[in-house]
Amino acid sequence: MGIQHNITELKSSLPPEVSLVAVSKTKPVSDLLEAYEAGQRIFGENKIQEMVSKWEQLPKDIQWHMIGHVQTNKVKYMAPFVHTIHAVDRIKLLKEIQKQAEKNERIINCLIQIRIAEEDTKFGLAASELDAMLEASASCSHVKIKGLMGMATFTSDTDQIQTEFQKLAQLYQKNSEFEVLSMGMSGDYPIAIEAGSNMIRVGSKLFGERNY
Ligand SMILES: *Cc1c(COP(=O)(O)O)cnc(C)c1O
Repeated sequence: MGIQHNITELKSSLPPEVSLVAVSKTKPVSDLLEAYEAGQRIFGENKIQEMVSKWEQLPKDIQWHMIGHVQTNKVKYMAPFVHTIHAVDRIKLLKEIQKQAEKNERIINCLIQIRIAEEDTKFGLAASELDAMLEASASCSHVKIKGLMGMATFTSDTDQIQTEFQKLAQLYQKNSEFEVLSMGMSGDYPIAIEAGSNMIRVGSKLFGERNY
């Protein structure tokens, strides 16, 4: 079985418009190479240092996605290569991404993280704050807002998960400029796709459970 098999099997089950971010956080470079050999080119990490180290060691045609919370003062370390930042949730961070992208003469793709989970989480914007964020991004020449990202409540209540994903999908559909709706993880990606996700972030289902 193994990673190559998992990648091939998952990819063949996905609708063609859904892209797969292979979430490789905590996993060794050898695991990422196995996925790479199965044709995987999009990897997601949640710690900047770890992503930099893997970027240095792996083939340069990989698209690196930062899926975790980003500290403003660390944007500079990933600005030379990061493809997409999924969890943009404040204007101060947006401005720093603009500054560092410009320095590197690059455009960095960003997704705005919206808080959809009922459970108490610190991260993500309220839906009502989205317009202000989009307005702020209009003056960011080196940032491309591609769409939205969200995480559902960690629960076995699939109705609740579905409701949360549908809320995000509605917000996404209201803006015709958006191209990417990043939602769905190992435990809930089928529900996310049904609700309209076109980018899923899957880790443990591909690489096995993580040992922290
Ligand atoms: C870890 C992580 C994932 C993947 O989680 P799995 O349950 O292992 O698929 C997806 N999105 C984010 C933001 C994560 O931090």
